[in-house]
Amino acid sequence: MRHNLAVARQHAPQAKVWAVVKANAYGHGLERGMRAFADADGLGLIEIDGAVRLREMGWQKPVLLLEGFFHAEDLDVLIRHELQTAVHCDEQIAMLERASSVANSATPPGLDVHLKMNSGMNRLGFAPSAYRAAYARLRAIPHVRNISLMTHFANADDGENAIMSCAEQIRRFHEASSGLAGERSLSNSAGDLLHEGAAADWVRPGIMLYGGTPGGKTAEEFGLLPAMTLTSEIIGVQELAVGDAVGYGSRFVAAHPMRIGVVACGYADGYPRHAPTGTPVLVDGVRTRTVGQVSMDMITVDLGAIPNAGVGSQVVLWGKGLPIDDVAHAAGTIGYELMCALAQRVRVVEA
Ligand SMILES: *Cc1c(COP(=O)(O)O)cnc(C)c1O
Repeated sequence: MRHNLAVARQHAPQAKVWAVVKANAYGHGLERGMRAFADADGLGLIEIDGAVRLREMGWQKPVLLLEGFFHAEDLDVLIRHELQTAVHCDEQIAMLERASSVANSATPPGLDVHLKMNSGMNRLGFAPSAYRAAYARLRAIPHVRNISLMTHFANADDGENAIMSCAEQIRRFHEASSGLAGERSLSNSAGDLLHEGAAADWVRPGIMLYGGTPGGKTAEEFGLLPAMTLTSEIIGVQELAVGDAVGYGSRFVAAHPMRIGVVACGYADGYPRHAPTGTPVLVDGVRTRTVGQVSMDMITVDLGAIPNAGVGSQVVLWGKGLPIDDVAHAAGTIGYELMCALAQRVRVVEA
């Protein structure tokens, strides 16, 4: 994770880095993320309770709530713990205005805010045409200290996207914010890696810090190292005759005699249930494939190429030697989802 943070910096040497640790640091543990990213300039996340935990665990540098606050009551928590907040809608500005009139103090403690522009993704943020008015409204609130300017890319990993390009979002953002005072941040991992010119004052890498690709190239091609390796063992072996079927639904039927290994890992561990027969897996370091339906606590794998494998053989579901993105691709999803879905019951060992 430290190495990957250094890679993020190499691509944006002039920028400061918000290391994104939302969703329990993409499944890696919030405290572990905080320690690994000690060199980051700040930590960004979604969860307000997680942000408070960072403070309680001793993180003293900036913390940014990437979706901001949700209710007026959250504002006290933000101020008390010195949490910076995205502001993406009029309702949030109204809550800030009401809070400052209620506080009614001569020297109210301040709040640093990040005004979000919807530059083309149409998820959160103010339209370019509404941006200056939102900025002025925020500027007039005594509680509001620094205003930073942010936007988020829809397709930073996809240079070919015909509907909304990264370049068009960059253009809209700079045009609609020109002349406004404040630090600017645009780039997620894909922006950091593939659009170095967009770096501005801060970048906000997430997935790349954990060794997953944001798209465009493989993690290895980007020089990233996997942070999470999900391992297990073979706990049973079956010999299948022609016509024998494996697992729930008898979905996989042997066309020739086969040895099948039963691995102690299933969807209750976060292994994707929709991973089809053929999803890659390593047994004793050899790449083979899953067969049949993923069940709650087990998957079944083809031992045809690994005749010496048996009970106790080491299995890698993803990570070192087997990119999480390969597994995700086979299962029709992305590495992000697999990392975030790692289940509570999986025992975490730090290498
Ligand atoms: C999650 C998030 C990021 C990080 O995105 P990655 O694709 O994981 O790098 C950056 N900015 C915002 C606002 C986010 O919500």
